[in-house]
Parts: sequence; C-alpha cells; structure tokens
Amino acid sequence: MSGILYIVSAPSGAGKTTLVRALLREDPAIRLSVSYTTRSPREGEEDGVAYNFVDAARFQAMREAGEFLEWAEVHGNYYATSRPWLQAQLAKGQDVLLEIDWQGAAQVRAQFPEAVSIFILPPSYAVLEQRLRGRGTDSAEVIARRLAAARDEMRRVCDFDYAIINNDLPIALLDLQAVTRAARLRTRQTQERNPAVFVDNLGQ
Ligand code: 5GP
Repeated sequence: MSGILYIVSAPSGAGKTTLVRALLREDPAIRLSVSYTTRSPREGEEDGVAYNFVDAARFQAMREAGEFLEWAEVHGNYYATSRPWLQAQLAKGQDVLLEIDWQGAAQVRAQFPEAVSIFILPPSYAVLEQRLRGRGTDSAEVIARRLAAARDEMRRVCDFDYAIINNDLPIALLDLQAVTRAARLRTRQTQERNPAVFVDNLGQ
C-alpha cells in the first residue's frame, strides 16, 4: 500500500501557505513534509515544525549523502525534502503533502510520476503585484525582483496536473479538497484501501 503524494507550488503572494494550512486542518489524513532549509528562522518559526533549520555545511553533507529527494535554491537560500522520511511515510500508506517550489516539483515528478501536482494562482497579476508590494516598506528594487520571480514561477503552471485560482479562500479550499478527494478515488487507491470489495478478492 502506498500513500498519495501531493505537490503544491505557487508564486509567493498567491496565498499558498494559508490555503494548505486550511486543508490540513480539515483533513488530518494528510501530513505535511517538513523541509530542510539554510534560511534563518523567521519570528515564531520553530525548528522541526516550520522547517528543519540547518547551516550550509550540514545541508551540503546531507545532499552528498543522498538524503534529499529534491533540493533547490530559492531566493538565495537552499531548501530540500527528506528522502528517507518521505519514503517511510508513503510505504506505510500515509498521504503526504509537499509545499515546494517548481524546481523541486519537477524533480519529485520525475521520481514519482503518480504524484498529484497542484499549482495555486493569484486571481490576477495585478492582485499579485498589489500583494507583493505589501505595506510599502520594501524598496522598489526588491519589489521589482519579487515581481520578476513571480512572473517566472507562474510560467510553470502548465507542468502541473491542477491549477487552482485563489480569489476567494473558501472556494479555493473547496477546489483543493475536490482534488484530494478525487485522488483518493483513483481505482488503485480505492482497491488498496478496500481490497475486500474487489472481485479478485471476493473468494469465488
Ligand atoms: P519560505 O522561505 O518563504 O518559507 O519559502 C520560500 C520558497 O521555498 C517557497 O516557494 C516554498 O514553497 C519553497 N520551499 C519550501 N520548502 C521547500 C523544499 O523542501 N524544496 C523546494 N524545492 N522548495 C521549497
């Protein structure tokens, strides 16, 4: 039996984290993978909960030891998904969600073609621009860099199985739940989770 692997990616400002948190709150059957990162913790971020925070040397050692399923550099920091943790979860039938960038998503898809990948889009580029400008405390240069990066990330949407527009959070959550529900109803999943119902196992 294998758990379902979900990959969720989005440009920053699309509201991905809020949406994923809402999904996980309502659906305890899905576990979030805790990534490794070299970025410093933000206020309120706990080690081992938000991320496993490591320094560059440890990250490199782990990467060389083959402990990462995927890794990428995002906005000047390194991020990676633990291979042994993920494999152990899936092997015991646990569904797992990876909240990772498009570069990581491509690496995971290559190794797990049956993974369900979802891209979260902002309602429009104008709204994204507004969100990234935030409270106006960042310099024009920083904002321009973020916007260019977001535009680049949004080009990757066509590599994903599903695209959800996050205009209204409750509706986007329903859309995301529709995807996870459909994934569980794939014939192989239904069979693995309910073997007794399938003809080959009816004993006649
Ligand atoms: P933040 O530092 O704001 O939490 O995340 C920055 C970006 O890194 C986000 O796009 C997030 O999805 C991505 N990210 C977080 N963890 C991983 C990971 O394990 N692998 C990859 N490839 N990207 C990640």
